[in-house]
Parts: sequence; structure tokens; C-alpha cells
Amino acid sequence: MAQNPDSATFLLHKFAQNIGKESYIVHHTDSGLFYDVTFKFTDRGTPVPLKARLGITAKYDPLSLWIKGNTSRFSTINDSIVIHGRTASIRVDDSTYSRDLSKQSFLVAGYAPGTVQMMLLKYWESHGKPDSISILPSGTVRIRKDGADEVGPMLLDRYVISGLVWGNELLWTGPGDQLLCIITNDAEGDKLEIMQEQYESLLPRLLRSAAMHGMQLFTKEMAGARGGKASGVGQDVSSFFGKGPSSLSGKYGASLGKAQPTAIVGGTLIDVVSGVAMKDAVVLIDGGLIKAVGKAGELAVPAGYTVVHAEGKTILPGLWDMHAHFEQAEWGPAYLAAGVTTVRDCGNEFEYIDAIQGAIDGGKGVGPHILKAGIIDGPGPMGLGIVRASTAEEAVAIVRKYKEHGFVQIKIYSSVTPPVVKAICDEAHRLGLTVTGHIPEGMTLQQGVDSGMDMINHIQYVYQVMKRNKDRSVDLTDSTNQEVLRFVKAHGTVIDPTLGVFEMIFRNTKDDITQMEPAYQTLPLPLQALFRNMGMAPDVAPRYKPIMASAEKITKALFDAGVPIVAGTDMGFPGYSVARELELYVDAGFTPLEAIQSATIVPAQVMKLDKVTGRIAPGFRADLVIVEGDPLARIRDIRNVRTVVKDGRVYDPVVLHGLAGFGK
Ligand SMILES: [Zn+2]
Repeated sequence: MAQNPDSATFLLHKFAQNIGKESYIVHHTDSGLFYDVTFKFTDRGTPVPLKARLGITAKYDPLSLWIKGNTSRFSTINDSIVIHGRTASIRVDDSTYSRDLSKQSFLVAGYAPGTVQMMLLKYWESHGKPDSISILPSGTVRIRKDGADEVGPMLLDRYVISGLVWGNELLWTGPGDQLLCIITNDAEGDKLEIMQEQYESLLPRLLRSAAMHGMQLFTKEMAGARGGKASGVGQDVSSFFGKGPSSLSGKYGASLGKAQPTAIVGGTLIDVVSGVAMKDAVVLIDGGLIKAVGKAGELAVPAGYTVVHAEGKTILPGLWDMHAHFEQAEWGPAYLAAGVTTVRDCGNEFEYIDAIQGAIDGGKGVGPHILKAGIIDGPGPMGLGIVRASTAEEAVAIVRKYKEHGFVQIKIYSSVTPPVVKAICDEAHRLGLTVTGHIPEGMTLQQGVDSGMDMINHIQYVYQVMKRNKDRSVDLTDSTNQEVLRFVKAHGTVIDPTLGVFEMIFRNTKDDITQMEPAYQTLPLPLQALFRNMGMAPDVAPRYKPIMASAEKITKALFDAGVPIVAGTDMGFPGYSVARELELYVDAGFTPLEAIQSATIVPAQVMKLDKVTGRIAPGFRADLVIVEGDPLARIRDIRNVRTVVKDGRVYDPVVLHGLAGFGK
């Protein structure tokens, strides 16, 4: 095992853009080696600086870790750990305690800095490659070698680290056994890439590899679970994917015809178009499609069909998330487990989302259907990512590239200039794409829509052009505000309000988070930590209540005016945030059926797929969900997912949640 150099620099990337760097210098002392690390990136104008000092022995045993600074735009860290013999003295923010050391322990404080992860890998290699390593201040990580990637003349060893952030993180070493790249997620849940300086050009390749291999880890695990009692969807389905012999041949997702013919019997089927509930229903599924729908006794189950019993349960179309950011492969099983079978990805690294979609559709991954919206930002320090258009010509070229790669929509981000917004919309429409997005800085909602934007993400852009009261609430009987509602309706603009995100940002951090997310305790620990601290301090939180209340009121008023409202989450609690979004619509005054429509047939309509999916009817894609209880009476029941069917394949949410690292 080669030594590390005494100093090195890594480039930090978000949305494939180099936004900062991390450097370390090693000091050799009598007691050990001390790595002094400076880590800093600037995310959309906000600096995120972090300093750390890691002490280790010549044999990679940890001595101390001190770390202080920011881990994202919204979160800080201030920890120190010192090891004396078999005891670790730990300080996390203001609390201090000590812990006896178990045999295999290392000091790590999350995803950053990469230097600490580099030394964690060295520790693992030099201590007999244990199955797991406990880490201080808290947690356990698992490390394993996952293979190698051939990149030009180099063979890069690929490792998987799990437990440090949500799910699996991928890491590569290059020539001389040196850390070359880490693809991880930051404390906002966004992908963050840490890349050795001289290899930066390999990043697109490695992003693609991270997507593919991140997904393949699940298919391997599921292959292991297959044949056991993995399914749990009833006595009748004994394997995870159904019994087709080619189920796991590596092509199951693409070869719809290979799915097992399945009959769902006994549940109450909801037609989300008419709102009619059919009790004791039979749904026949074959070849990935719904073949027939009828009543028990009238529609017979043909021979050879596997029966899924749904007595006492409700059968709904698979749900949609119209504001996803597929930042890591774990979103795939997390979405399916929550009954979400289609998502619109509202902006991602080009190579990453392309490879994630390819893996799912090609049967080498697990996840929902993905509709890709390609992100474009403008020039300037507040911009996001590397896809930037400063001129109409650049915009046209980018729109064409997205179109060539199967994107169905363009997502405009906050720094695009008004003439470029127009150029994007014109070219997108010429090519048959639609346009969604933020209203860029310096533009109004009306200007964005007049420039051709078909859809707007986040209710805030409607709120911002309304007349506001002193306490920041809005009066919707006011004539200016009435005019805004009329304008949005007249232009057929589609809105995904993302109420869940606003609830999260404005929540009082002292409030009980399980009221908002009853499954909170089942989330992987790194996610619990991430969400626990999100929100407002108790003294300021009350001031934001009128904004949140107004966001709900505006959503309902738009809906009543006839504006298409589609459920979008902008991430949040993976998978479950769709249920939360629907609960907030009901809170705003939607009926449960109307809320469910906003996550089924309405998104299918606005994405022009309503002849293909979005309801349970003959000829439609077999994307559906079976839930315990009656979500039409009680929207919270939509969380009780018992079985998910996507493309005619039957999934057990318990198994899916296991893949995504969720507890029970
Ligand atoms: Zn977003």
C-alpha cells in the first residue's frame, strides 16, 4: 500500500461544476501524522467553508479529529474527538462525552473532507479489510471493493462506502493507490464530487459509472433475495419480480413481455378520472399493461395468472413526483416503495441522470419511470452547474443536445437572462419539448410566461407577484391578486407548488418532526440527522407562518380557478415526501381525490402521457399501488403502501426500503 503524498489538492464539484477545492498538508510529529485540511466551495453564491485536522499513527490508527465550519449552505459542524488509550473524548457542538473504543474504530464526521475518507480507506486496508468499522462520533460504515473501471490507459479501483451518508457512496483510487474521486452527497442531499486535480476531465465518465454501479448494487442484492420469502405480497407471489424465468436475465425492465401475468383481486379500485370506486375489483395485468378491469364474478382470472389479494385495500394508479432530483441511486427503490412509479427529474448532471434512466429502463436498476427535464442556467456567480447559456445561440445548441438525448422538457434556472429565456422556449417548442423552471432573477412570473414558459416550479413565484399584507400574508380578494390568478389560468400555466419544501424550510426546529413525517424513525440515520436540523429557530419561526398559510391558500385558489396543479416535492423525505405534499393539498382544501389526481392523471395530462399512464384502465401501463385503508376518506392512508406494480412487475415495499437503507 503506497504512502500518501505530503500534500494534495482535490477539486469540489456540484452539478459537475468546479465550485471549490480541498487541500491538505501533512505535518510529521513524534506522536504521529497530522493532516491539516482546508475545504471550501461556493454554492449559488453562498460560501461553504470547513477546516479539519486529522491525527493518525504511522499505522493509520486514529489519534484525533477536529472539524469546524459548514457542511452545506444550511448546516454547520463543530466536533472534536481525541483518543487516549482505549477511550475517546468527544465534543459535538456544546455537548461532551466519552466512549470506550471498540476494536475497529475510525474518526469521520460525514462526507467531508475527502481527505478523512481517504484515510478511512487506508485504515480499512491496513486493518484486514473488516466487514464494518464503527466511526466516531457516531455510526458504522461498511467498505468493500466493487470492481474496477477502465478509463483510457488506467484501471481505477472502485470502492463502495455505505453508512457515511445515505446509502452507498462510490470512491475510486488511481495510479499509486491514491484517492482519485469520491462521488457522494452533501448535507443538502445534492451530489458532490471530490476529484483529484489532474484527473478532472474524467468526471463525466465517473458520474456515469456511479449511476450504473450504484443501481447495479441493488440488482445484485435483489438477486440474492430472490427465491426466498422476499416478496411478502401475499402467498401467491413467491419471488420479487414474479416467476418469469428471464426475470433477472439483465433485461427484465426492457422486456415488458416477460413480466408475469398478474391478477389483483378483491380490492377497491379507484378510477381517478371519474372518481368512481369499484369494490371487489379484478385487474388483469400482462406484458406490462393492464389487460382488463372488472368486478369479481364478472371478470374471470385466466389460468396461469399469479393472484395478488387486495381484500380490504385500495388500488390506485402509481403516483408521480413532478419535482424530483435523482441525486443518488437510492431514490429508485425509495420512490417505488412509496408507490411512486413516475418522476420528472427537474435538473441533474447530464451523464448521471442519463445513466440512471438507462439502468432502470435497461433492467439494470430499480426505480420509477423518469421524465428528464434538462437544466439550463445563465452566467454569473449565482449560477448552478456547467450547463449555462449566455446567448440565444448557446441556448439553442443546449436545447438540441437535450432533445437528442431523450429529455422531454427544459428546466430554466435562476440566472438565465430574459432574451435567453425566450430563445430557450422558442427552440424547445419547435422541437416539441415543453419548458418549466424557476422565474429567473429580475423577471416576473408574467414575463416568464409571456416568454413561453409552460410550467412554473414552486408556488413562491406566484406569491412574489402578489400584493402582500404587512405580516406577509396575501388577501386573495384583492384585485391585483385576482388578476394574477386570472393570468395564470388564461395561459394554462402548470404549477408544481412544492409545499412540502416550504413547510420544511419554515418549520420550527423544536416542533415534533414525526407529525410531518410519521415514518421519520425509519429513515436512515444520516437522513434523520439531515432533516432534524432543517428549519427555523423557535424565536423566528412564527414570523413565517403567514407565508406558509398563504402558499396553501394560493395553491387552492389556483386550483379553484382551473390551473393544473401537479404534485412535486423537490426531494424532502425520500419517497414519503409525495404523500406529505398530498396531505398539504388536503390541508389547503383539496378533497383527497383531487390531491391524488394531482399526483396521477393531472401530471400524465400535462406531460402528454394520459393515454399511456396515470389511471387504471385497459391498455394503460401497469403502474399501480395497493394501499391499506381508504385514502379517499383519509389521505394519510396513502402512506400504507403494501404492493407496488411498475410495468407489470410486482414489488414489495419492505424489500425496496431495505435496499434504500430504511429501517422498519
Ligand atoms: Zn428543484
